[in-house]
Parts: sequence; structure tokens; C-alpha cells
Amino acid sequence: MDLARFPRRRYTHAPTPIELLPHFTKALAASCPGGVGPEIWIKRDDLLGLFPGGNKTRKLEFLAADALAQGADTLITCGAPQSNHCRITLSAAVKEGLKCRFVIEERVPGSYKKEAGGNNFMFELMGVEAITVVPGGSDMGAAMSKVAQEVASLGRKGYIIPGGGSNAIGGLGYVACVQEMQQQWYDMGLAFDAVVVGSGSSGTHGGMAAGFFGNSIKIPLIGIGVSRDPADQEPLVYKEAQAVADLLGIGKVPREAVKSFGGYWQPKYSVPNAKMVEAVQMLARTEGILLDPVYTGKIMAGLIGLARQGHFKPNAKVLFMHTGGLPSLHVYEDVVLGRTALND
Ligand SMILES: *Cc1c(COP(=O)(O)O)cnc(C)c1O
Repeated sequence: MDLARFPRRRYTHAPTPIELLPHFTKALAASCPGGVGPEIWIKRDDLLGLFPGGNKTRKLEFLAADALAQGADTLITCGAPQSNHCRITLSAAVKEGLKCRFVIEERVPGSYKKEAGGNNFMFELMGVEAITVVPGGSDMGAAMSKVAQEVASLGRKGYIIPGGGSNAIGGLGYVACVQEMQQQWYDMGLAFDAVVVGSGSSGTHGGMAAGFFGNSIKIPLIGIGVSRDPADQEPLVYKEAQAVADLLGIGKVPREAVKSFGGYWQPKYSVPNAKMVEAVQMLARTEGILLDPVYTGKIMAGLIGLARQGHFKPNAKVLFMHTGGLPSLHVYEDVVLGRTALND
């Protein structure tokens, strides 16, 4: 598909690597039916550009370019206090010489502290212009429109990016990723049997579903929900996939192209569970690659769970999308070292 007609900025200078995980594959096989499991490979989107990169970097290549094309001088977006998306959006704004404002949703009342570490430190260090804190369950779109009005009243122009950067333009980042991977598979002489990806605000999963459809890639794309089970997650992802397909003008995405699994994100979005801890430890101790507790730890727990249930054929080649998110690992150090008792 021709993506060149959409404005794009480049924040990563080469395709992110695709690597085999030999020791992880061996460790996983030991707990699979008959001692044989799938062969696990990883796409290193934790190595994308901007600080510290992750899947939002790919969406922002198209979103920031669109903001610049529209003559905006301020990026406005929203998220939770430790949002990867907010941090990476700020990094993109700084790089482009734009200002940046956030609306932060405080899901636990009183939990947002300006002097706290993690993101707040990085927000201040990279020079966010203003942060509006709203209670959990607020209308984030309305709150961002209000910020845009404030910016307009200063004679400037804001550009609103929805939570997670998940709209049709942001989803183009993962269409571009699919095209990048397709070329890598060809160059490396690899034919994968399935791709496993996290499914949250839906831009990544939905963008990839549109990319698979548009490029006639027929292997299963398996989403692992990080905040919703399939009945709620799949319609959201399907809507995003179709919005991306409409922007590209490639017709109707079949509903069956969107498939997700639940059961790995409970008890709640961003709250740790025992399967996540096992996955984070297993990859760290077999391959020296770190996952995060909110997203990729739970997504890898999904891959491990499916493999143990015999979902993949023996020795099937499965590609795991590492979407990043590392800074939050440090907020959960005791948990991922197994010092806190957790339920499945
Ligand atoms: C946002 C995020 C996801 C989920 O991607 P969506 O496009 O929101 O579905 C997965 N992993 C990490 C590390 C993220 O920050």
C-alpha cells in the first residue's frame, strides 16, 4: 500500500529488529503439551525512537506530521498518570519545537502528585506546558477541547490527539510497521504462523489488522486484551481497523480479521497478576529482555497461556510484538521480583 501520500516524520532510523528467542522457546516448550511448543520470535518495538520508545512512537510519526501540516503549535493529549503515550507525545513535541499540554485522568482520587517520580519527573524535565488533572471517568474529549480553547485564546493553535494516539491517522503507524515486517520476513526468509500483539486503546491491533488486510497477509493476528475481554475489545479494534482502512481507501475489513483473547489483564488494567510476573521473569532470565508490568508482561502471559493450551501447532513460528513501556517496570520492582503475593 502507498503510505507516501500521508505526511510522516521519522523518529526511528532503521527497522526494529526481529530476533529468535531460543532459550525462551526451550523454557516454554518444557511446560507445553508433550514438551513441544511453538518457536518464539520477537519484534523489538521497545527499541523505537523518542524517549524511551514504544508503540506510541509509530503513531506519533503520522500524528505529529499531521499537526505540523495543519499549522498547530501545541500538542494536546490525555492519559493516566504513568501513561507511556503522554510521555512519548511530549518527547515528539519537544523534538518538533511544539508545546505540549496533557489532561491526566486520576483514576484513584488523590493519587496524582506533582512531585512524584516516574512520568511526573520526566514531564517536568522535558518541559510540559500545562497539566490538567481530572477525576476518573471524566469526558476526556471534552476536557481536551477545553484545553484547546485555552490555547486558542492565546492566539495559538492546538492539535488534539486522542488517548493512546488511537485514531485513523495514528493507526497508519502500525500499517507502516506491518509493511516494514513484511519486507523483513521476505529478506530473512521467514514465514511466520501467527503474530501476537497487545490490544488496549486499539490503534496498534487495529492498525495492524488493517495492514494485514491491505497487504493480503493471511496468518492469524492474535490480540491479547490489556483492559477488556473480547466481547468489549473486539468491536473497539474492529472500528479502529475500519477507520484506518477507510482512510487508506481499501474497502471493508472482514470482522473475522479481528480476534482477541481475554483473561490475562485481570483483576484490572495496570494492576499486577501472577501470570504477568511469571512472564516478565521468564523473558528476563532466559533472554535478558525486559517487559513492563502494565502491557507487555500481560501480553506475553497471554502468549505463554495459549502455547500451554496447545493453541499453536508444535514448532509453529510465532512473532511477539514487544510494544515497549519499560519505565513503569521500576514503579513495580517488588512485585516483579515476586516479593508481593498475587492472584492469577
Ligand atoms: C499503549 C500500549 C500498548 C497498547 O497499544 P494500543 O494501541 O493502545 O492498543 C501496548 N504496550 C505498551 C507498552 C503501550 O504503551
